[in-house]
Amino acid sequence: MEGQEFVDGWIRGQILGEGAYGEVQLLLNKSTGEAVAMKVIELGKLGVDQMVKKEVCIHRRLNHQNIVKCFGSRQEANKHYIFLEYASGGELFDRIEPDVGMDEWQAQKYFKQLLNGVEYMHSQGIAHRDLKPENLLLDNHDNLKISDFGMATIFRFRGQERPLEKRCGTLPYLAPEVMLRTYLAEPADIWACGIILVAMLAGELPWDQPTADCPEFVAWKDRKWHTLSPWTKIDTVVLSLVQRLLLPLPKSRAKIPEIKGHRWMQKKFSRNMVGVIRPAIQVTPPRPTKRLCSDVDLPSPEHVSTRLCQSQPETRIVCAVDTDCDDSPNADVVSFSQPAQFEDLLLSSQLHSTQSTTTSQNVYQKLVRRMTRFFVKLSCEQSIKLLLSALGDHGWSCKATTRQVTVTCVDKRKMPLTFKVNVLDMDGQTLLDFRLSKGCGLEFKKCFLKIKESLEEVVEKGPVTWPIAIATNTVP
Ligand code: AMP
Repeated sequence: MEGQEFVDGWIRGQILGEGAYGEVQLLLNKSTGEAVAMKVIELGKLGVDQMVKKEVCIHRRLNHQNIVKCFGSRQEANKHYIFLEYASGGELFDRIEPDVGMDEWQAQKYFKQLLNGVEYMHSQGIAHRDLKPENLLLDNHDNLKISDFGMATIFRFRGQERPLEKRCGTLPYLAPEVMLRTYLAEPADIWACGIILVAMLAGELPWDQPTADCPEFVAWKDRKWHTLSPWTKIDTVVLSLVQRLLLPLPKSRAKIPEIKGHRWMQKKFSRNMVGVIRPAIQVTPPRPTKRLCSDVDLPSPEHVSTRLCQSQPETRIVCAVDTDCDDSPNADVVSFSQPAQFEDLLLSSQLHSTQSTTTSQNVYQKLVRRMTRFFVKLSCEQSIKLLLSALGDHGWSCKATTRQVTVTCVDKRKMPLTFKVNVLDMDGQTLLDFRLSKGCGLEFKKCFLKIKESLEEVVEKGPVTWPIAIATNTVP
């Protein structure tokens, strides 16, 4: 499929990731080099058609620098294509070091951007309902972009707010009230932002779920957490903000203006502190005449709409918003946002995935910035052999082809985790490129680090600036 023409002038690039309902693929304009991410959803499964229409309808209403833009969509036979702003910087979870997190100044930057996006979204009457690091993408300038509006809903319309009752999202990020009763949209999203902040600062999630049978959550609720991880890893100033975000009572939970005014949000980090961060990986766009994939190259929504999207379905969908109260107990409409069973929903939400498989090497592939990869001093064949033996030592089951190993295991929450290791020959060097297929991003990174450690003797040492070399050396 890669390299094939999609519609006139647009060719298919690499697969960027996998979602619960289909793949996300890069689309490139042959003459201008413009890049667009295309979400491909297989229709036909019960409820999927309605769900996709709702996702597009809601997403298209949003226009903000910290939200992935939705240019429109197109339906053909049994597939629905959604055209999205391409976020070339990968996912936020990839910047979180397991059990460590990231530097505080960096967490502050991402958190501010997240909050700006959420504030705007709420001002438009829209709740996301599945905020987590896997749904926060980064652009080429390391700016955060909220993505995946598959669970989003309209909670305020023409000034009228309604409580929500659908229990949806991903368990560790869910606010306690979402598990219990009807809930208000804004505090529930704010809670998820609090959990994301903890993940960024400590590299771990505080609990599996916010329920009475989860000891870590109960300890937090009962204020008996002072000697426990992750709280002991978090500086007291920002911890006081986290306490306001993770207040179990939604009414008392901090609102956006209060969060913005918190002293940690105002804190200026000194140049020295900034200096110790990992160097940002600069991916230099290839030379040739065509421009590629920087934000400057993003096409305008109108431009993409006319060329890629069909106009009529959108018009119909936008009109449907008025009655689209999926959470209203009285609404006589199909429920779009979740499968019938709560468990199924959580599963489908956790069966989240990222960049999937492609072993072919074209220049576009190198433009996606990821940290879950390294070079080894072995040939591809030797690398696969060693990799399989290391994976076997960890007791993980795996399937191998000549250039790819698929690993399946369960994480510490007993949730399924699947990832793929692509073994790439890069100008005589062997690159092991790890991509999450299903499961929690942080758990995936833990596995990645374990494998890297097992292969330590053959891992090429060196600065993380290597993508520059790849991007420039391999330009055809
Ligand atoms: P989703 O189906 O929205 O959960 O997307 C699945 C995966 O595809 C994400 O986790 C990203 O790795 C990738 N992806 C989705 N949207 C984009 C985008 N706009 N730009 C780049 N990658 C994306």
